[in-house]
Amino acid sequence: MQGMMMTMPMRIIEILQYGAELHPGAEIVSVRTEGDIHRETYAEAYARAGQLAHGLAGLGIAPGDRVATLAWNGYRHFELYYAISGMGAVCHTINPRLSAEQMLYIITHAEDRVLCLDLTFVPLIEALADQLPADLKFVLMTDRAHMPDSAVDFLCYEELLDGQPAAYDWPMLDETAAAGLCYTSGTTGNPKGALFSQRSTVLHALWLSIAIPKSLNAQARILPVVPMFHVNSWGLPYAAPLVGASLIMPGSKLDGASLFDLMETEGVTASWGVPTVWLGLRAEMEARNAAPSKLKQVVIGGSAAPRAMIEFFERQDIDVCHAWGMTEMSPVGTHGQLPPTMEGLDFDTRMALKSKQGRRMFGVELKITDEDGARLPHDGKAVGNLYVRGNGIVSGYFNNPEATAAALDAEGWFGTGDVASIDADGFLYIQDRAKDLIKSGGEWISSIDLENIAMAHPCVSNCAVISIPHPKWDERPLLVVVPKSESEKPALEEIHAMMLDHVAKWQLPDAMEFVDALPLTATGKVSKLTLRQRFDGYQMPDVG
Ligand code: ADP
Repeated sequence: MQGMMMTMPMRIIEILQYGAELHPGAEIVSVRTEGDIHRETYAEAYARAGQLAHGLAGLGIAPGDRVATLAWNGYRHFELYYAISGMGAVCHTINPRLSAEQMLYIITHAEDRVLCLDLTFVPLIEALADQLPADLKFVLMTDRAHMPDSAVDFLCYEELLDGQPAAYDWPMLDETAAAGLCYTSGTTGNPKGALFSQRSTVLHALWLSIAIPKSLNAQARILPVVPMFHVNSWGLPYAAPLVGASLIMPGSKLDGASLFDLMETEGVTASWGVPTVWLGLRAEMEARNAAPSKLKQVVIGGSAAPRAMIEFFERQDIDVCHAWGMTEMSPVGTHGQLPPTMEGLDFDTRMALKSKQGRRMFGVELKITDEDGARLPHDGKAVGNLYVRGNGIVSGYFNNPEATAAALDAEGWFGTGDVASIDADGFLYIQDRAKDLIKSGGEWISSIDLENIAMAHPCVSNCAVISIPHPKWDERPLLVVVPKSESEKPALEEIHAMMLDHVAKWQLPDAMEFVDALPLTATGKVSKLTLRQRFDGYQMPDVG
């Protein structure tokens, strides 16, 4: 028997419509590439999204067409998110840190019709223009006064909106229609496209807005450091208008000092980003011996948040919410917002819990399996391959039958490529990416565990543990350290002593090497692939 309730399609544009109507006081504050600060309300953004949709329709954009963006976090990028998906087209966010080769691949693979870009990326597009499809149109996200002289025929974003009506007849789309496209960075092989739908995006925004209320509420002023050009800024541009939180968009200035200043002048209450970003903010806080005065929460994800980093923020009364997810999951899967029953636990116990990746968000199911696909218990001890299922998780990859065929297991769950345990309270603990685990003498060593401990050494600014092939043990761990300074380098024995409190002797790194900086991927994570290539042929000392 069917229920007797109306079925309305879930549409992304309704989020902004709602935010504009119900939260007129909330605003989007943007550090513009033009150099100044810009402010607009959700009502203004909604009106401009209507104008933009008319402008894009004038360029021939129709439902299903892909419109690409190459832009920092800012109000025009936000307007594009809603105008493109609202009219039924697909917003394809491009990560500017991809290699030229990868960028050409995804623009061609996505069959983008229009590419909207920030001023910063003019030289990049000028250099690639010859190799891009001849019928691709370019819109420069600025006003007439800032349009550069260029051999490329750039259209002007503000001129596209000028004179257009704010009212747009947003179509009653099929809720399963594609709305967003984001390619994973593809450390090996070509990038693969996750194709979000209207429905998956709305649902993810709803789940997120109830999952992390310390960040997402009507009093909040959230600074997303996590970029809109990758994994939808972890869903913040969709969740914020729902709850009435203001968005403080940092543009291209993501160093510690710029972030600290923006947090201070704009009264930022919460900020979300990957660990490398927080290293910068932490250094700035230490240098100024102060914390941004209104900052109440940082959400850290994308790679494991080291415990030392979590403790640093918590000791300044800034709540840390450690989150885990991936592009293919819209992207948030789990979060470390502790339930009230656990908030009162002692500091050490809370820090240990917060070092894990948190508990699942509504709408996300988790399972761990052994090599044969058999389920393992959620007892905090069993470690296995992590699979996920839910309405915000990909069922395959855009126009890629081969990758699609390999994405799901026999039960229809998506394989994350991560190796994890889950405890009886539901806390997920990521041991490693399967490809980063170190296999020594038939046993596994978690690089994340070792890094976590080494990061607590006062002379370690950043570090990574990678596997080095070994004739006797298959692989052994090498610790690569960025020291705090040339004169203050840690000794391997000191780090070993710290590690021995937590791991077995045979798991200790055999050697340590110093580097000036760690290589990062296009998404701001430590690139272990590049590090392994750099230490290719490295001879481990014989430690028996
Ligand atoms: P890519 O970097 O290829 O674009 P994603 O940004 O989607 O991919 O990254 C997803 C992966 O990042 C996860 O599968 C996991 O390995 C890692 N990751 C994300 N959050 C965390 C976390 N909190 N702790 C450990 N690993 C994480």
